[in-house]
Amino acid sequence: MRIYISIDMEGIAGTFSWRQDQGEWRPQVRRLMTLEANAAIEGALQGGATRVVVNDSHDTMANLDPELLHPAADLIQGTPKPLSMVEGVQEGFDGAFFIGYHAAAGTAPAVLDHTYSDESAWEIRINGRPVNEAAINAAVCGHFGVPVVLVTGDQVACRQMQEWLPWVRTVAVKEPLSRYAARSMHPERARRAIREAARAVVSEMASGRRFDTFVFETPVVVELTTPHTGQADVAALMPGVERIGPRTVRYQETDYVKAFRAMRAMLVLAGSSR
Ligand SMILES: [Zn+2]
Repeated sequence: MRIYISIDMEGIAGTFSWRQDQGEWRPQVRRLMTLEANAAIEGALQGGATRVVVNDSHDTMANLDPELLHPAADLIQGTPKPLSMVEGVQEGFDGAFFIGYHAAAGTAPAVLDHTYSDESAWEIRINGRPVNEAAINAAVCGHFGVPVVLVTGDQVACRQMQEWLPWVRTVAVKEPLSRYAARSMHPERARRAIREAARAVVSEMASGRRFDTFVFETPVVVELTTPHTGQADVAALMPGVERIGPRTVRYQETDYVKAFRAMRAMLVLAGSSR
């Protein structure tokens, strides 16, 4: 049983602000992320996992403390990575966990809501439907035949995920009060809940339960609406991109991974607008 883990920061118990990424709070947020990853790893191992790979998926993608991480897991860190938040999943796994995930840009109240880029993405739609990072990444996993089986984050992130993947097990570790405020479970209780959910879902898989993979219908149409028109001006320079509105660009592709990479390239371009 091979388990893949993508871990973000915004949906970890005890986080509520990007200021925690800086200065004196930074060591604590690294520890919170690493210990929550460990809870998921321990649960997976207890359930019968034989291989676990963790991908650090937040911002610089250099958050987890490699020495504090459970020694059974391999750790992927740094940026850029070809598959970004789901780099490594292409090796093939029996199931994926998304730990510490958050709601889509424009959701309220939801802790630190955004979609891949807080500065470049007002909204991202795939095949006409607004998406969150979990849905975008679940479809990359699905492209490689890997089902997402566990998602953790704030209550709204978990609810959004169940709309996309009704079969997924979720652990809500905090209640959002606003974009920058939350009422959180104690990290130790959150870790216990995550450990137990990971153990339960991997045991089910080990005893033969099959989970559906998630994919978008093709051709895949990605639409990016940027906060201001200057960002769309730059994103529209990319070959194959169509400008369909003052703040909106569109890209169509039959291969989902190519569409995913194009989405990320559009976000980087949009972010370069001054
Ligand atoms: Zn993040």
